[in-house]
Amino acid sequence: MRDPRYDILFTPVQIGPVVTKNRFFQVPHCNGMGHAMPLAHAAMREMKAEGGWAVVSTEECEIHPSSDLTPYVEARLWDDHDIPALALMCDKLHAHGALAAVELSHNGPTASNLYSREVLIGPSHQPSKYGYPSQARAMTLKDIREYRRWHREAALRAKRAGMDIIYVYAAHDLSLPMHFLQRRRNHRSDAYGGSLENRVRLLREVLEDTREAVGDRCAVALRFATEELLGPEGIELSEAQDIVGLIAELPDLWDVNVAAWYNDSVPSRFAAEGAQEPFVSFVKKMTTKPVVGVGRFTSPDTMVSQIRRGVIDLIGAARPSIADPFLPRKIEQGRIDDIRECIGCNICVSGDMTISPIRCTQNPTMGEEWRKGWHPERLPPKREASRVLVVGGGPAGLEAARALGQRGYEVSLAEARRELGGRVTREARLPGLAEWARVRDWRVGQIGKLSNVSIYLDSVLSAQDVLDFGAEHVVLATGCHWRRDGFGRSNGLGIPGLADHPCVFTLDDLMDGRLPSGRVAVFDDDGFYYASVAADLLHQQGCKVSYVTPEDSVAPWSVNTLDYRHIRKRMAKQGIEVHVSHGIVGFDGATLTLENAWDGTISGQACDAIVMVTSRLPDDALYQALLLREAEWNLAGIRSLRCIGDAEAPGLIAHAVYAGHRHARELEEPSAGEVPFKRHFHSADAEDLRRGG
Ligand code: ADP
Ligand code: SF4
Repeated sequence: MRDPRYDILFTPVQIGPVVTKNRFFQVPHCNGMGHAMPLAHAAMREMKAEGGWAVVSTEECEIHPSSDLTPYVEARLWDDHDIPALALMCDKLHAHGALAAVELSHNGPTASNLYSREVLIGPSHQPSKYGYPSQARAMTLKDIREYRRWHREAALRAKRAGMDIIYVYAAHDLSLPMHFLQRRRNHRSDAYGGSLENRVRLLREVLEDTREAVGDRCAVALRFATEELLGPEGIELSEAQDIVGLIAELPDLWDVNVAAWYNDSVPSRFAAEGAQEPFVSFVKKMTTKPVVGVGRFTSPDTMVSQIRRGVIDLIGAARPSIADPFLPRKIEQGRIDDIRECIGCNICVSGDMTISPIRCTQNPTMGEEWRKGWHPERLPPKREASRVLVVGGGPAGLEAARALGQRGYEVSLAEARRELGGRVTREARLPGLAEWARVRDWRVGQIGKLSNVSIYLDSVLSAQDVLDFGAEHVVLATGCHWRRDGFGRSNGLGIPGLADHPCVFTLDDLMDGRLPSGRVAVFDDDGFYYASVAADLLHQQGCKVSYVTPEDSVAPWSVNTLDYRHIRKRMAKQGIEVHVSHGIVGFDGATLTLENAWDGTISGQACDAIVMVTSRLPDDALYQALLLREAEWNLAGIRSLRCIGDAEAPGLIAHAVYAGHRHARELEEPSAGEVPFKRHFHSADAEDLRRGG
């Protein structure tokens, strides 16, 4: 069972009037489902409770229509109609002995009000944060009283829903109590502006209001940003210390982190486990109240160290709880090897950012708990005693083999290379991506515990090999490769003359150790992380790197994973020359010819080599060959043959893992129908529709 070293993680913690059963605390995290998909949301949170988290929180919860976050979908407690959705979550958590927490938020100038059409409000007149062409107006003293009433009433509703911990939110640059603290947002000259004492006033009042309203049964937590990393423009550590000094004993729990979100949920490429410690460790020294903090903690030793060294009392986690909702349970049961460690890729964040249900690279069941009934730890047993051949040991093939093995099938996995992992093994060797290897390591570890899964390395299978193998089911997960010819979103006919040029490289070349030297242009027509990683590698190798993209900004999709600012800062620091809005129209091995996307101006730059990061092609030759021989499948005993992952259509690692998992779950199962998942229908609306509105 449990290693006694970890006992301390399983001791209860008193938070005001409530007690946690252990020290695992799922801090608030967005999920793209929120108020729009309450059943899916509640089932996702329930999985964490089942997995042993003592506290499970909502995401930020809008308290009033003047804090409407449309198009983003968060939690909502505008009035009593919103209670049942959160009550459902509370009931589910309580059934597993977990406490429910809600992060009440009024986002002031960081709301949108696109749905409610209310005028934005803030401490002072200022532009709305997210680029909407409107401004927030300065709140009057009456507005402040109203805001306090809304917050109080939302707290009472949360209590009625069954919440045990009610948050006051002053973090991430996202809520009024924080906006009143910030000198750049608060230019008031009344009792709520100017001196620190005055800027803290609203936060103090809201903490007191909340305690007075619900403190008899609920704990009052404060989520507080200790540093914004903006210099004197933002809240700095020294000021945060003064703030904590003023209200140290007011909340029942301090939940501390670094603002804004991109400095909090930093991708693993830019921050290691426990990176927030230097910014938050002072808090515990200034208060007798418990402190929860985050740091993408997946190692129980790190967790114990944080507690023993007095950094935090509760292990806060968003991403580690997404990648493995059963993380606490696994530590409790002494199953450390079974922990599915977060890789810090932030695909989970991209769900919220793209207003779609949360997904996770490591945990393909995340977001599928209700609509598909998927459980992260359990799979249905196999239907028949069939044998399955999986070709390709990348994320898709490994996940298919693992999940099919867990279902009880006799699985053979053939991999052409001498190592498993496919693209994750290769990408993990690139700068900053070492944690990608966890996708491989967890699956290889799990497969190692299954006697019914055999792995054959160094085994390139041909179509004949597959036909001769004697498996009833064949899964082809043979991956993809990067194109050299420039074909991509911006060049539908490729870029003439590049495909066979000896000085044109691809990411595969770089991963194979074939590196250019001298002046190298990285051409990014992909828009996510790959090109910036290539630039990073080449810079490390001493090349003079420039970055060229037809897009108007660098790596635009990386905004969705919070990589964007970190990428830009790193490139700037490395002196990488950036050419946005430019396409490549020619290259002769010495000069690169660029064309401005907007005015067509042609310019030349000295260049020894280009790295093409445009698009990929499936490695599906084996699949195509087997399709041509479909008439022979029957005789070979093959009942199903599927091509999955990057070999079907190149995508994210998350897509490949999901494809492998889905195929494993669905093999020999009855079809789930044309729409293979449950959807939310609003019955009240349906009633109105029937009545004709
Ligand atoms: P995905 O992301 O879809 O899992 P990867 O590119 O990561 O794809 O992995 C594909 C794996 O398949 C690679 O490790 C590659 O070596 C292997 N592979 C490709 N073709 C064959 C083949 N014919 N026989 C065995 N393995 C193959
Ligand atoms: Fe971690 Fe990536 Fe999963 Fe998010 S998507 S929880 S960062 S593995």
